[in-house]
Amino acid sequence: MPGRRPADRTVNRRTIIVGAGLAGFRAAQELRARRYDGEVVLVGAETHPPYDRPPLSKQILSGRWSPHDAFLGTAEGTELDGSVELRLGTAAKALHTAGHQLVLDTGEALAFDALVIATGTTPRTLQGRVPPGVHTLRTLDDSTAIRSDLLRGGPLVVVGGGFVGAEVAAVARELGLQVTIVEALSAPMERAVGAAAGAMCGQIHQEHGVTVKCNVSVERCDGHHRVERVHLSDGAGLDVALVVVGVGVRPNTGWLETSALPLDNGVVCDEFGCADQENRIYSAGDVAKWLNPRTGRRSRVEHWNSANEQARLVAHNITNPHQQLVMDAVPYFWSDQYGEKIQLVGEADPRLQTTVLTRRGDEAHRLVLFSENGTLSAALGFGWTRAVALCRQVITRGGSLEEAVAQVR
Ligand SMILES: Cc1cc2nc3c(=O)[nH]c(=O)nc-3n(C[C@H](O)[C@H](O)[C@H](O)COP(=O)(O)OP(=O)(O)OC[C@H]3O[C@@H](n4cnc5c(N)ncnc54)[C@H](O)[C@@H]3O)c2cc1C
Repeated sequence: MPGRRPADRTVNRRTIIVGAGLAGFRAAQELRARRYDGEVVLVGAETHPPYDRPPLSKQILSGRWSPHDAFLGTAEGTELDGSVELRLGTAAKALHTAGHQLVLDTGEALAFDALVIATGTTPRTLQGRVPPGVHTLRTLDDSTAIRSDLLRGGPLVVVGGGFVGAEVAAVARELGLQVTIVEALSAPMERAVGAAAGAMCGQIHQEHGVTVKCNVSVERCDGHHRVERVHLSDGAGLDVALVVVGVGVRPNTGWLETSALPLDNGVVCDEFGCADQENRIYSAGDVAKWLNPRTGRRSRVEHWNSANEQARLVAHNITNPHQQLVMDAVPYFWSDQYGEKIQLVGEADPRLQTTVLTRRGDEAHRLVLFSENGTLSAALGFGWTRAVALCRQVITRGGSLEEAVAQVR
């Protein structure tokens, strides 16, 4: 832990970034790349150096990578150098916007000239008593703990059919465990992509030997020293050795509640990623709720590409206050399951019209196209990366469903 220092109110050329995940790391890196010549301080609650999260449910969980391989910048040799002050194992506790002061859990108060909030999210878990062996997956430590439980053997119950839970199920099957996914809606991923496309996600698991139970929820988990049994809302019970809960997240904004910043299931930002223009407070990544100039709506997008791109834009906007840029990239998400890539590009509102295409002579590779009044809004691809790349171009230029179908075929 760093030592306690008196309140520092003298510095007026310093950008502080709160949260040392992907968005925080990238913002720091980009500020330096753009020759920002003030101090850059990166404050992170975790003790690990900044690391990437997608491998936590893929390469690290399966044992193909060691935890060190997930550290950001290691592979390309772009780790943060001494020009960024790293304050790891230190959490921000409060923010005084008008006074330009960030208060840390060490008791220090740091002055800033610009601030970037990149504190990400925390997974929700089950209500009531949660015995050991019931996990959520967000951090490197979560991933290594789940891996060591997976190696002890199953059965595994995954609560929630979202992408993170789906990837855990896929790795567990590779390791030979018996796996059940319990989903409260009628299909995995239903809330994001609708029931029909969600059923395709469920089918992939079933083809790999996973039991998928829909329209049921977990009432409670029992066990003395470790979890032993999961009780479901339909009265059934499942014997388990471990449980992974993937039922959504909440943004890490608790420390901002006494600040004057606008919060609404995230840090409310304009189209430049700015939450407070006057005091130069920005936000990026999973915690940030940016205004999308394309749709006129604000949303938090929990995708790697968005966190990366928002952080780069925020660094640009801090260093170019008179030529600020807006985020106009089409949202993109990928997931790796059973050796295939599942990709979602665009905004897949389940209420939109859907069209399903299958790659010629290859039933397993499919594409679900989401459209509104003939315009392509989103595409969900199962193992068909070329088609998703084409759809991304069509969505970017506001093209039609017809155009997408013609290009893909
Ligand atoms: C297991 C997993 C797999 C994923 N796989 C994919 C994938 O395949 N494809 C894809 O597109 N996306 C994927 N994602 C999503 C992607 O990783 C996130 O969108 C991305 O990590 C968001 O980065 P972030 O910097 O906003 O948040 P985070 O990476 O969560 O970083 C936030 C950091 O802020 C810290 N923090 C919180 N509060 C404070 C505080 N008060 N003070 C200081 N520090 C604080 C946290 O400890 C954390 O280290 C995955 C996510 C997970 C968890």
